[in-house]
Amino acid sequence: MRSHLLNDATAESYRRSVTEGVERVASRLAATRGPFTGVTPAELAPVIDAVDLDRPLGDSTAALDELEGVYLRDAVYFHHPRYLGHLNCPVVIPAVLGEAVLSAVNSSLDTWDQSAGGTLIEQRLIEWTAGRIGLGPLADGVFTSGGTQSNLQALLLAREETGTGDLSKLRIFSSECSHFSVQKSATLLGLGRDAVVSVPVDRDKRMQSVVLAAELEACRAEGLVPMAIVATAGTTDFGSIDPLPEIAALAAEYGAWMHVDAAYGCGLLASRTRRHLLDGIEQADSVTVDYHKSFFQPVSSSAVLVRDGATLRHATYHADYLNPRQAPATKASPAAGPWGRVPNQVDKSLQTTRRFDALKLWMTLRVMGADGIGELFDEVCGLAREGFELLAADPRYEVVVEPQLSTLVYRYVPEATASPADVDRANLYARKALFASGEAVVAGTKVDGRQYLKFTLLNPETTTADITAVLDLIAGHAEQYLGENLVHA
Ligand SMILES: *Cc1c(COP(=O)(O)O)cnc(C)c1O
Repeated sequence: MRSHLLNDATAESYRRSVTEGVERVASRLAATRGPFTGVTPAELAPVIDAVDLDRPLGDSTAALDELEGVYLRDAVYFHHPRYLGHLNCPVVIPAVLGEAVLSAVNSSLDTWDQSAGGTLIEQRLIEWTAGRIGLGPLADGVFTSGGTQSNLQALLLAREETGTGDLSKLRIFSSECSHFSVQKSATLLGLGRDAVVSVPVDRDKRMQSVVLAAELEACRAEGLVPMAIVATAGTTDFGSIDPLPEIAALAAEYGAWMHVDAAYGCGLLASRTRRHLLDGIEQADSVTVDYHKSFFQPVSSSAVLVRDGATLRHATYHADYLNPRQAPATKASPAAGPWGRVPNQVDKSLQTTRRFDALKLWMTLRVMGADGIGELFDEVCGLAREGFELLAADPRYEVVVEPQLSTLVYRYVPEATASPADVDRANLYARKALFASGEAVVAGTKVDGRQYLKFTLLNPETTTADITAVLDLIAGHAEQYLGENLVHA
């Protein structure tokens, strides 16, 4: 069994095995005719159930053969130009290379003594990102598993910074289009049920800062504590960006922590033409970025950045076995010897053992550079604009807002009169039928209680011809549904 351990003696088997895996994926990518095969859970479950986990196959070729049937053949492929579903991006090759390296070396970023250079690379990338945001000289942060964890950590710091023991008094303000992880974080942080004040959005799905101001005033008048304002820079559904400068001014006025959730919009940090859309982000106390959304990185790759690195101490706990207390270095007593103060990233993180996800971004920047990433993101933003024109000109469709980023929310509206409930059902049916056909994948959401469809465009390979084709497919499915289900007078 030792022949399966990765070490110098097994280097040849490692090479063969990984090369074979790469070969399978490459062939599969070339063979996919659509983003999905349309397989159902009922069809796939017996295939996976039939695998006897207590009878190993012994070699990786056999396991890869089996993997074709249990996974690779029927996976959902984000690299396909007609995958327009959730916020998943096709990945760039330098990042995949980084992924292969980091898994094989298996550094753990919690302490210096489990990562060495990995720790410094992560720190450089945090500095780089904070620099792009403009957070100033004291900024710091840490890589996380995703936007959900980044938001949780940011709000934990915000809660601790209030210095208020009475958690029931704390309020978080975020727009009605903010991500549900804000609400989830509030619950996890022990805040009351009413802790999150949902601020309405304007026609463009941006937080109404006038209402925010009124809500903050009401909060103060009631003797409550405005703990944080969460501005979303790229809402999950619409890609809308809240008015950051106005929100920053209000945060300062009311002494609230300003958190910018740029899980989606962070790609703008690399854009040469659209960076100004994030103006005001530099005033944030904390920022969430998901490199695995708009930096074309494999899951997981995310970070939380803070303006004042000292606030990360709220996430610091010491364990004798891992990161014992170190005397702080001072001018009078600089950290002793060549080892100095040991940088342990666990001091800044909610996680302990932690992947070296930063390596993927590092390889990406070293091969392509930030401009390369920004160009890709600019392309999909441009595509969304063209898609908007197509939808706006198409009488079969109604489109919700002009895109700021790369998302389009729209729905099929029939020519014949149909009840609102029937229109909802027709759109829902079209989405499901499309998914079942495997020809394309689109997302869905609700706007004012009604069913809509959504394109999340993150693939620069997607063309307007793809968009047109998918719109035709959707209309076909919706018409079929209405034809079969509407009782005509
Ligand atoms: C996706 C998203 C999140 C959650 O990020 P995960 O990486 O999925 O945990 C948070 N906020 C916004 C705005 C998002 O779009």
